[in-house]
Amino acid sequence: MSSEVENVIIIGSGPAGHTAAIYTARANLKPLMFEGFSAGGLPGGQLMTTTEVENYPGFPEGITGPELMLHFRKQSERFGTRILTQDVEKVDFSKRPFTVVSDGVVHKAHAVIVATGAAAKWLGIESERRLANAGVSACATCDGALPAFRNKELVVVGGGDTAMEEAQFLTRFASKILLVHRRDEFRASKIMRDRARKNPKIEFIVNTGIDEILGDKHVTGVRLRNLKSGEVMERPVAGVFIAIGHKPNTGLFEGQLALEETGYITTKGKGSYTSVEGVFACGDVQDHTYRQAVTAAGSGCTAAIDCERWLEMQDK
Ligand code: NDP
Repeated sequence: MSSEVENVIIIGSGPAGHTAAIYTARANLKPLMFEGFSAGGLPGGQLMTTTEVENYPGFPEGITGPELMLHFRKQSERFGTRILTQDVEKVDFSKRPFTVVSDGVVHKAHAVIVATGAAAKWLGIESERRLANAGVSACATCDGALPAFRNKELVVVGGGDTAMEEAQFLTRFASKILLVHRRDEFRASKIMRDRARKNPKIEFIVNTGIDEILGDKHVTGVRLRNLKSGEVMERPVAGVFIAIGHKPNTGLFEGQLALEETGYITTKGKGSYTSVEGVFACGDVQDHTYRQAVTAAGSGCTAAIDCERWLEMQDK
């Protein structure tokens, strides 16, 4: 057991976690951060598997996801954040000080900021992984405007609001969108579905799954299978956007914090307060709507300020 009680432990090292770290460190709270391995064995969150980031303000020429996260990390460390590259195994928020267990060591803290993020769901086929960042993406807002997709035919997979929204968004750049959904009923709200249906650039292909994404170095097409008739067809496309939902990384907090039905951490009002006083949440782990690096960073700042004020009230 570590003998000190930390002021604040931050769990997660994406834009939300690091922004919370920069702010709490500058408030002299000496935060301890756990950077885990959620994104394919790399700390730093979803940006570690992104290539170009063109929409993070302050980088007019764009920056790669890993480079941006390196900047975040350096800035956190510059103000004295201590970073442990370990996955947290267990937390106990039932009594104060709170307990965070990692690598078998028990850490205690007066406050905890949860910034464990979310992960895009993937189809799970081999070609999807092989061509990730080479035409396969899970974020139209991030990648849709890339030159490789301009005036090309693209696929969007999914039947929820995200798929409708991404298909609609991508028609700004692409010549045509094939919206591929495994059923002929949609989870998407009627208004979003109707809007997509009315867009002449969007072709709905229902009861259909993706057998394979084609291409050697980058996406050149898809092999589709009609799940009712078994019919297989190939279509040439330059990109495949997977929009089948996200999963928040909240397994660790089940039974500890109030979660939405969808698994996201419940936060109160505009702030970062969770169901447990002294535990704050920020970034994608509590936001299924915006899911952008810059909104995550903004909410990391909110959590740090909430945490700082709360600690002050506790006289810590
Ligand atoms: P949803 O869970 O609503 O939809 C996921 C879609 O992906 C479903 O159509 C599902 O099919 C399909 N799917 C899931 N797994 C697979 C798979 N393995 N293979 C093929 N298809 C699959 O997720 P969304 O991200 O669309 O939405 C999440 C939440 O965010 C919702 O509450 C939504 O309303 C909200 N949202 C709101 C927006 C807005 O209001 N502007 C914009 C975007 C999202 P099936 O139906 O067959 O299960």
